[in-house]
Amino acid sequence: MSKTLRLILGDQLNSDHSWFQTIDESVTYVMMEIRSETDYATHHIQKIVGFFSAMQQFAAELQSQHHHVVYFHLNDTNNLQSFEKNIQYLIEKEQFTHFEYQFPDEFRLDEQLKNLCQSLTIATSVCDSEHFMSSRNELGDFFEGKKTFLMESFYHMMRKKHHVLMEGDKPLTGKWNYDDDNRKKLPKDHKPIPPLVFQNYVTEIVTEIQKTDIKTIGNIDAENFVWPINRKQSLELLDFFVTECLALFGSYQDAMTPNEWSMYHARLSFSMNVKLISPLEVINRAITEWENRPDEIQYNQLEGFVRQIIGWREYMRGIYWNKMPEYATLNYFNNKNPLPEWFWTGKTKMNCLKDAINQSLNFAYAHHIQRLMITGNFALLAGVHPDEVDAWYLGIYIDAIEWVEITNTRGMSQFADGGIVGTKPYVSSASYIDKMSHYCGSCYYKKAVKTGHKACPFNSLYWNFYDKNEYKLGKNPRISMMYNVWRKMEPEDKAALLEQANYYLKNINQL
Ligand SMILES: Cc1cc2nc3c(=O)[nH]c(=O)nc-3n(C[C@H](O)[C@H](O)[C@H](O)COP(=O)(O)OP(=O)(O)OC[C@H]3O[C@@H](n4cnc5c(N)ncnc54)[C@H](O)[C@@H]3O)c2cc1C
Ligand code: SF4
Repeated sequence: MSKTLRLILGDQLNSDHSWFQTIDESVTYVMMEIRSETDYATHHIQKIVGFFSAMQQFAAELQSQHHHVVYFHLNDTNNLQSFEKNIQYLIEKEQFTHFEYQFPDEFRLDEQLKNLCQSLTIATSVCDSEHFMSSRNELGDFFEGKKTFLMESFYHMMRKKHHVLMEGDKPLTGKWNYDDDNRKKLPKDHKPIPPLVFQNYVTEIVTEIQKTDIKTIGNIDAENFVWPINRKQSLELLDFFVTECLALFGSYQDAMTPNEWSMYHARLSFSMNVKLISPLEVINRAITEWENRPDEIQYNQLEGFVRQIIGWREYMRGIYWNKMPEYATLNYFNNKNPLPEWFWTGKTKMNCLKDAINQSLNFAYAHHIQRLMITGNFALLAGVHPDEVDAWYLGIYIDAIEWVEITNTRGMSQFADGGIVGTKPYVSSASYIDKMSHYCGSCYYKKAVKTGHKACPFNSLYWNFYDKNEYKLGKNPRISMMYNVWRKMEPEDKAALLEQANYYLKNINQL
């Protein structure tokens, strides 16, 4: 008799997948909590708990529908702690004749599972995860023969292909991009809406993790775990986002303010990345809300949101599959410095970094502009090795899976790919941070001071970055203005800035 074993990875919790549409007694699904997954990076405790909770709930849901599921818990005595070993053990024990899996989203797992299949003596097959709106190779095919991979052109193609916010083959309203309307600072007296959080009771999983020697970072309230861990909660969060946040999403997308960790962001990346909800249903729900409340939700807010999902998210995945595995080795600026120690503790006098890092340790979350223009900006200005920056981002965020982490970190944030994802490095001095946030007013450092006592470190490090990398960036037309300013500066002012930067770099752990 034919017997099939199907592997479900921790980020493949897609209940709409065609696998689950029929109950088949000859099919067994296997899911596993294993050390090879908990230990490939130092993860935030909330990330491991988020994955394991969502996996356990998904397995229970399948079982309640009468699918046959084998689930290896972290500390089960028969758990051999690797995909290969557990699968081989099951095949021998249960005499399976077929092994099937869905395309993984990570290169590492893709290779691992291909190798496993080669070593097996039974029939094997792989199918799509039925989640994304573009295929793995679609971006590569779209840009074939081109030197640069412009996100904007890819986004237009995706809007046309899926007929999203289109009128025939033209963008609805005649304009593709509303970014210019979407970069406002939060007014001083504006209190953002409190986030919808869940009170999931996850003490058992935390206890199981604590019984092991798994190294984790960050904090957790195990009786009130705030993240959605099943499809129902993910849909509730989506509903909260479109009804309460969408109307101000675009306007305050780049805004930052102390002690407000979520603002008007969706916090749907974890649910989407583990496939509890699909990108198509997320944007369709947002579009329906806009259609129902046209007077309250301006089009620019909606377009800003749709762009993130069918533009940036799909684009990053396409870059990943087009450029891996070389992408993980790129270091355009040849940066070598270690990550400052306070990235792991939040103990720094720099208000913006203190807030972004402590929030990351407390919630396993920071919104995009905190990741890009606070922590990422500082790491690049400080010349940190991209491997160290990647390891931090891959560990600390609940939504961090390599396909979307590395392209954003090594590419967009660290410019280590030399300009595949971004056309110029995202760096700034204190003036941008002050323009978009309320961090500087209460900071130990002085935002307008460039050298000397209490000078904001971003200021001198910013000019040091341009000076040090002039041979790589000096001809980039998008930053020629900055080089003109730098070249016109008095030699003694330049020397003072470089000396200040050098002092800060030498004493980086004390900042
Ligand atoms: C250095 C750095 C590292 C990042 N690491 C990750 C990561 O590991 N995992 C991850 O999912 N995102 C990552 N991002 C992208 C982005 O910051 C997060 O997707 C977003 O903050 C998630 O929060 P949200 O759901 O509230 O997003 P919102 O701001 O509400 O945006 C809505 C959705 O758009 C998508 N999106 C927005 N921007 C991007 C982007 N640049 N790339 C891909 N998708 C995007 C996400 O799915 C997100 O849920 C990173 C960005 C930077 C600059
Ligand atoms: S003064 Fe500098 S370090 Fe302080 S919050 Fe502003 S940008 Fe950050």
